Amino acid sequence: MTTKKTTNSSKTKKISKRGSLRTAFLRLAVILCVIVIFAITIACYSNFHKVIFRNVEVELTNEAYTLLNALDRINPGEYSLTVQKNVMALYKGDSPIEQDFLDAIKEDTSLDISLIYIYTNEEGSTYGMRMLSTLVFEDSNISPIGSKLNGAIYKEVAVSDSAKFYDSVTIEDKDFAAYYMPLHNSDGDVRAILGVVKDSTAIKSDLLKAFIPIIVIALILITVMIVFVIFYSKEVTGDISAVRNFITAVGNGELDKASPDKARKRDDEIGDIASSAVMMQSKIRDLVEKDALTKLYNRRYGNTHLKKIAYECTGNDKPYSVVIGDIDFFKKFNDTYGHDAGDIVLIEVARCLGDYMVKYGFAARWGGEEFLLVFRNMDGKATVAAIENLIELVHAISITYNAENLTVNMSFGVADGRGQDIETTLIEADVNLYYSKEHGRDRVTYQ
Ligand code: GH3
Ligand code: MG
Ligand code: MG
Repeated sequence: MTTKKTTNSSKTKKISKRGSLRTAFLRLAVILCVIVIFAITIACYSNFHKVIFRNVEVELTNEAYTLLNALDRINPGEYSLTVQKNVMALYKGDSPIEQDFLDAIKEDTSLDISLIYIYTNEEGSTYGMRMLSTLVFEDSNISPIGSKLNGAIYKEVAVSDSAKFYDSVTIEDKDFAAYYMPLHNSDGDVRAILGVVKDSTAIKSDLLKAFIPIIVIALILITVMIVFVIFYSKEVTGDISAVRNFITAVGNGELDKASPDKARKRDDEIGDIASSAVMMQSKIRDLVEKDALTKLYNRRYGNTHLKKIAYECTGNDKPYSVVIGDIDFFKKFNDTYGHDAGDIVLIEVARCLGDYMVKYGFAARWGGEEFLLVFRNMDGKATVAAIENLIELVHAISITYNAENLTVNMSFGVADGRGQDIETTLIEADVNLYYSKEHGRDRVTYQ
């Protein structure tokens, strides 16, 4: 059992909810949604506004022309102002234009119509004066008849002699869309103005009606987007947390920590980081557990692994055995062929032992040219037979170095693990190895 040591610096840092990636995703989604909605709203509003007011302009213009034609038909002749018994009346030709005529049109179309006369008062100032109108100034004492046309409109229509449409005109505190058309006498003078206006409340309600489905669709889209972001961020941050926990655990020395497989399967940067973290764990494990030259387990990890197998076999009431092997006359080998040749031999012997032990247990480099072999579920006697095979495999190792064919032998000492502690077993294996060395080498001893 290893005791886990953690320091404050290597503990997982607690991330506040506000600073978490998930909150950042959500914040971003909400900001994006608000921007998108804002943009959609403005774009749609200005478009609808344009379309609806264009329709209103067409409606008012058509009505003005229809009215003009009707006037010319009913009352052919010039526009003039006639005063009879102190009452002013707008004439066209020989007869006055009748209020009933305008009222009938209002009834048909719901549009308000005003006929404005270009009037010059006693002081000599000229302005537009409503002579006939279907407008009703409900909250005011002023009568629409005799009221003045807005000065700017007067200038733009009468003085500039051009018909004009206005999105928004305020008449007695009420908002209207309006079309004003100059009316000429036969000499070409502008004598009057025809005004056709439509209450903006109706237009605004049309605008709202057209706008509501867009708002509903935008809200649905926003909801879908937020749900998607919540789901996606949960997925992503879950994987990131798994990688983070894995790296922290490895940093804390948990070299057996299970890899974050789900994150590793991702085909993105998170997947790359997870794979790198797993690779880092494997490299650290190699550095900590393996011998740099032979790539076998080092003595420290050999000891740990031996303890694991001893614990496992004792628990299962199974035998196990421990072997120490040592290359014979290796000093002489080094002296004869050089240290580099010795290293190559160590690598090849280690490969032979490592491969051979895969099916039995494991091999570790115990020191210099000494190796530890641990056989799981096998007593000393069975192990001796296995080692005799191994001795032949060692003989078969063939190394060509500087055109020379080099071979080595090994001696082994075997000890039963069952029934005694590990220290005693290791000493016994060492004593048996010594016996092999003393009795001709290139052999195995078990007694
Ligand atoms: P014996 O048969 O009694 O074991 O004789 P020996 O020469 O093998 O034993 P000894 O303990 O006298 O010498 C061990 C030699 O192993 C000495 C040392 O130079 C060599 N050795 C230990 N580690 C390495 C290594 O990493 N590389 C090389 N090339 N040689 C090593
Ligand atoms: Mg030796
Ligand atoms: Mg030795």
